[in-house]
Amino acid sequence: MSSQLQDSFGRKVTYLRLSVTDRCDFRCTYCIAEKMHFLPRAEILSLEECLMVAKVFASLGVDKIRLTGGEPLVRRDFVWLAARVRELPGLRELALTSNGSRLGELAAPLKDAGMDRVNISLDSLVADTFRRITRVGDLHRVLAGIDAAIAAWGSRRVKLNTVLLRGVNHHELLDLVGFALERGVDISFIEQMPLGETGYRRAASYLGNDEAMAQLKTAFELIPSTETTGGPARYCRIPGHESRIGFISPHSRNFCSDCNRMRVTARGELFSCLGSETMVDLLPAVRAGDEAGVRELILGAVAAKPQAHHFDLSLPRANVMRFMSRTGG
Ligand code: SAM
Repeated sequence: MSSQLQDSFGRKVTYLRLSVTDRCDFRCTYCIAEKMHFLPRAEILSLEECLMVAKVFASLGVDKIRLTGGEPLVRRDFVWLAARVRELPGLRELALTSNGSRLGELAAPLKDAGMDRVNISLDSLVADTFRRITRVGDLHRVLAGIDAAIAAWGSRRVKLNTVLLRGVNHHELLDLVGFALERGVDISFIEQMPLGETGYRRAASYLGNDEAMAQLKTAFELIPSTETTGGPARYCRIPGHESRIGFISPHSRNFCSDCNRMRVTARGELFSCLGSETMVDLLPAVRAGDEAGVRELILGAVAAKPQAHHFDLSLPRANVMRFMSRTGG
C-alpha cells in the first residue's frame, strides 16, 4: 500500500521511528545529561500502546518502523513487542537502533522474532575513550554484542553508527572504518547535532563530514555511490570491500527535502521534525484506545511537518531542548 501520509511539501512519510523508552544504560556525553530525570513509568506508553501506535502508522501506509530509545533493549519484554510489530500488515522492514550492550543475549531472540536489521552505535575502539564518551559503557560488552548481531543477521544487515567528536575520538576514524571493513558491515558517520543541554559548547567538538571524508581519502580510495537505504546517509564504497561508508550530515548537507520520517517518543509525543520543538500529543487518544483519534492526530501532524530543520552551532545553547535520548535516535 502506498503511504497516505503526504505533507504540504509533497513528501511521503513511510518511516516511523518509535522510541520504547527514554531510559538508557549509557550516558553518552553528546546525547544525554549525566544526571537525567527519566519519565515516570506511568507516563510511558505500555508495550500494547506502542503496538497500537505502530499499527495505526502501518495502516496509513508506513512500511518501515525502527524501534529505538533511550536504549530499547533495557525495556522489559522488548522481544515480545518486536515480534508483534513485525506481524503488522504492510510492514516491509522492522529495524532496531541499539548501543549493543545487551545484544550478546538478545540478538538471536530478536532475529527469531523477525527483526530485519540493526544499527549499533560505536564511537570508539579504545576502552578508556569509550568509557569517557559513554560515561559508564563497557566496550567489550558492546564488541561482543556486535559479534552476536553479525552471527544472528549476517554482516550485511548490521550497521555501525559513529558520532565523531573533535579532540575525543576523531583520530579513530581510520580504525573505525578498518573495523567495519574487516567485518563487512556498513558504518555511518553522523554529525553531532545541538539537541539537549549537555553543558558544553557543541561547536568546539563538532567535526563535519567533509573533513572526515577528506581524512578517509588519505588512506582509502572512496568511490561515491548513488545507493540509498531510504535514509539521509550518502554512501561511498571502498574497492574490494562489501562495506559502505555512510555520511549523515544534518549540518553540512541538509537532507530535509527527502525526509520521509516521523518520530514518536516513549511518552507518545509525535514529532514530525527532529529539529523542531513542535509536537502532537498522542497519549490521551492512545490511552483511550481511540485508534481513529490517533489516526486523525497523525494526519494533522503530517500536514504541519516543517519544511526543514536549521541547526546553528554558534548559539551558546542547545537549538532544541529535547535530548536525543528522549526523542529517539
Ligand atoms: N541507545 C541507542 C543507541 O545508542 O544507538 C538508540 C538511541 S541513540 C539516541 C541513537 C543514535 O543517536 C546513536 O547513534 C547516537 O550516537 C545518536 N545521537 C545521540 N545524540 C546525538 C547528537 N546530539 N547528535 C548526533 N547524533 C546523536
